[in-house]
Order: sequence, then C-alpha cells, then structure tokens
Amino acid sequence: MAVDNSAPLVDPYGRVVRDLRISITDRCNFRCTYCMPEEGMQWLDRAEILTYEEIERVARICVERYGFDGIRITGGEPTVRARLPLLIQRLAQLRVPATGAAVDLAMTTNGSSFALLAADLKAAGLSRVNISCDSLRPERFQALTGRGQLGRVLEGIDAARTAGFDPVKVNVVVMRGVNDDEMVDFAEFGRRQGVEIRFIEFMPLDAQGEWSMDQVVPAEEIVEAIGAVYPVEAVVQGSEPATRYRYLDGAGAFGVIASVTRPFCEGCDRIRITAEGQVRNCLFAVHETDLMTLLRSGATDDDIAAAIAGDVGRKWAGHSIGRVNFIRPARGMSQIGG
Ligand code: SAM
Ligand code: SF4
Repeated sequence: MAVDNSAPLVDPYGRVVRDLRISITDRCNFRCTYCMPEEGMQWLDRAEILTYEEIERVARICVERYGFDGIRITGGEPTVRARLPLLIQRLAQLRVPATGAAVDLAMTTNGSSFALLAADLKAAGLSRVNISCDSLRPERFQALTGRGQLGRVLEGIDAARTAGFDPVKVNVVVMRGVNDDEMVDFAEFGRRQGVEIRFIEFMPLDAQGEWSMDQVVPAEEIVEAIGAVYPVEAVVQGSEPATRYRYLDGAGAFGVIASVTRPFCEGCDRIRITAEGQVRNCLFAVHETDLMTLLRSGATDDDIAAAIAGDVGRKWAGHSIGRVNFIRPARGMSQIGG
C-alpha cells in the first residue's frame, strides 16, 4: 500500500471534509423549472471550464493530501460533456491513502442519455448513480423539464440497473401543488423497480428566484403520506444527508433530504468545485475561491491544496434558509452543481 501522507481537512466547526462534488459543465439539455430559466442561459465557453486534466488534478490533491474518499460528478448535466467515461476512468484510479481503496465515485444525472452510457460508465469505474425524475406522468414531466421525455429517463433508470449499479437512486424534488400528488406513486415505482427514491425538499436555488417556503413539502409530510400506505421504520445511519426509511414488508427503502426543514449542516462533510473551477464550501456559499487561475498560472500542488484549505477555513456553521439572515446565492443550482 502507498504511504499515507494525508492529513484530514477540518473546518472551523470541527467537521472533517472528505466529499468532493465536481460540476463538470454548466450546460444542460433540460430546463427544469426549479433550476434553470427556459430561455436566455449564457453558457460558459469551452475554454472557461475545467479540462478533464484539471479536474483530475484537483480531485487527486483532495484525495492524496486530505484523504477525501467520495467524489460525485454533477452539473449542469454531466452526460452532455464529451467522452465522459474517460474522466470516470481517470478518477477511478485514485486511491484513498488510509485504506488503499478506490474513492466512492458517484454521479447525478437527468438520465436522458444514460441508456447509451450506462455500460461504459460502469466499466470505467463509476460506482453509483442518482437519476433525477420529478414526475411519472409524461405531460407533467415534459412541462417540468421544459424539453425532457419521460420514456428516455425511464429507459436510463432501467439501463442503470441492467449495468449493475446497485442501488440505483432516483431523485425527486417535491413541490407543493406541482407534484406532491405523486409521492405514493413514486414510492410504488421504487418498490416495483427495485430503485431507491430520494425525495428532496425544494430549495431556494431556482434560477427565477421565485422559491417561497409555502412551496416546500416538508420531509415529515412525505414520510407520513407514504407510511400511511406502506408502513415504514427509520433506518439508523451515519452522516449522509438523506434520512432513510425501510418498508416493513421488506420491499426496499426510500430517503428524504430535508435540506430546508431539517438542515444537516452539522454533519456536512463536503465541498464543491464549479465547472469554472471555483471552490464553494456550501451549496449556499456567498464566497468562492478561484482555483482556475491558480491551475492555469503554474501553481504547485501545494498552492492548490492551500487554496482549498483556505476556503474550508471559511466554512460557516450552516445555511439559514427560511430565516431573515438568509442570503440567496447569486447562482442557480445548475451553475453551482447540485
Ligand atoms: N442535471 C443533473 C440532474 O438533474 O440530476 C445533475 C445536476 S442537478 C442541478 C442535481 C440535483 O439537484 C437534481 O437531482 C435536481 O433535481 C436537484 N435540484 C435542482 N434544483 C433544485 C432545487 N431548487 N431544489 C432542490 N433540488 C434541486
Ligand atoms: Fe438540467 Fe439537472 Fe438543472 Fe434539470 S436539474 S435543468 S436536468 S441541471
């Protein structure tokens, strides 16, 4: 096993940071109402986003220097980036110094091209996938995503299972008056298909800035609605943001991510890198650290590691959605990387 020279990266509140979310593009083939405006997105130029080499370098520094053991690829829509399996192959080579194990390499995707990519991504070393799908009704799905086709996403979910991803998770953002009548339908879909639904509370990261608290369906209400039909019990677990519930009849489990009503900031172990190489120490951070300039001006690995540590040194205790001191980030979810 390689020598372990890593030292944990600890934020001012004593939380060890070990999870890296990398947005590899700001582009997307969908226009989900809660994420992007229908028209007028200004995409970054190709030269303005991190290359695969630069992404790999930042990831390697986080893993080798600081012992990160989880990486999630996101966007925008990661599958719109060309030759994605090549990036996955490179990241899959990284080894966590303390254990010698590969990093837990995951991706979040809208699933529209996953049927074409699932086998290649699995072979390249992707370990886990979350596929987003907010309605099981074709017309509503199209209205919610602007231009998506439900059939293709369902094929993507099927392909993920066939390729051997296990568990396949399906992310559902629940919005009052939009899709909150489908919670039990999704539970049934998860039970039938053998996939784990992750219900997510709607967060104030919509590009239009129209979010309001009354559009949030609290996690508690989601669990009650499903539990009334299929009895569940909470699963005791570690630091992951989702609270998981197991069906008492043994037909699997689902999770709820209560970012708004029960923030999990005190267990937060992640940082993010945007497509243009900015470190964000929180989804709702108002400050970013510019790695892109460092990467393109001959900085050493030490310089980059120090910049990442400097950003983590500014990490706050937590966001304050719904309170008067909450500051909405200037960017929407697709630009930050969900
Ligand atoms: N395009 C990919 C996808 O949709 O899965 C990856 C990027 S997307 C920004 C990552 C996740 O963020 C998706 O599951 C999406 O549903 C979720 N998301 C986007 N905007 C959100 C919001 N305002 N509140 C809660 N979740 C949101
Ligand atoms: Fe695209 Fe994902 Fe945002 Fe939907 S949630 S617009 S699929 S980036």
